[in-house]
Amino acid sequence: MDEEVVTYEVRGPVAIIRLNRPEYRNAQNSKVTYALDAAFTRAVEDDEVKAIVLGGNGKHFCAGHDIGTPGRDIDQSFERKAVIWWDHVGASGVDSRFARESEVYMGMCRRWREIPKPLIAMVQGACIAGGLMLAWSCDFIVASDDAFFSDPVVQMGIPGVEFFSHPWVMNPRAAKEFLYTGDRMPAQRAYELGMVNHVFARDELEERTLEIAERIAKMPRLGLALTKKAVNQCEDLMGLRAGMDSVFGLHHAAHAHNAEVQGDSLGKVDVKAIKQQAAEA
Ligand code: ZN
Repeated sequence: MDEEVVTYEVRGPVAIIRLNRPEYRNAQNSKVTYALDAAFTRAVEDDEVKAIVLGGNGKHFCAGHDIGTPGRDIDQSFERKAVIWWDHVGASGVDSRFARESEVYMGMCRRWREIPKPLIAMVQGACIAGGLMLAWSCDFIVASDDAFFSDPVVQMGIPGVEFFSHPWVMNPRAAKEFLYTGDRMPAQRAYELGMVNHVFARDELEERTLEIAERIAKMPRLGLALTKKAVNQCEDLMGLRAGMDSVFGLHHAAHAHNAEVQGDSLGKVDVKAIKQQAAEA
């Protein structure tokens, strides 16, 4: 499949990187992960680029990790970038699953959270599970009024997506309800909880997000990079990094339980079942 899964565009001082599988609501397979990584690297290395916007082509930002499109590629090797574990291909059980998720989920999101230029998520439509991880890796989120956020993986018996930022990006009690119900959180509610910085009308989203990015781009490069690092370091001192590492173990206990008891690490929950649950909400 030679589809261009991520698009890259530079407008003035701003690089705009977009997920580009609109026919699958921008579901993320590994090919997307590595294409995003390459695009971020390109933006970091281009001296003309001062700020980066991450968006999605089509009606939705991102419907999550690819658990059911024809482009699902969990058994493929890629030239790894996060390299915090060995390659998962050829391994089995936890040896494979932990390796894969350490690289393509936890490792990559951490890598992106730390890229030294401002990174703004521009979210419309669905931002579900794996989509949250992308949006939360960014410095802040600008959303359209039709955007919604959800993490339905408790339905699989799993305590949230791999990049477990929930109690930091909203408050812990809101995080519990968000996870317990799997309900869609509208952009306005996410704004009230401080997870989203601005909500704009859908047809103004791009223009208004770019205005913010262009204003930021006028600041000195080093000042921005140090500021990003300063806030990230403090967020980590508030427990983000250590919390996330500890929850990653719980996450893998859940995958292993599912595999042991049901023969499927996702607890035999597929896209259809998740949509069904969302429809009943
Ligand atoms: Zn997982």
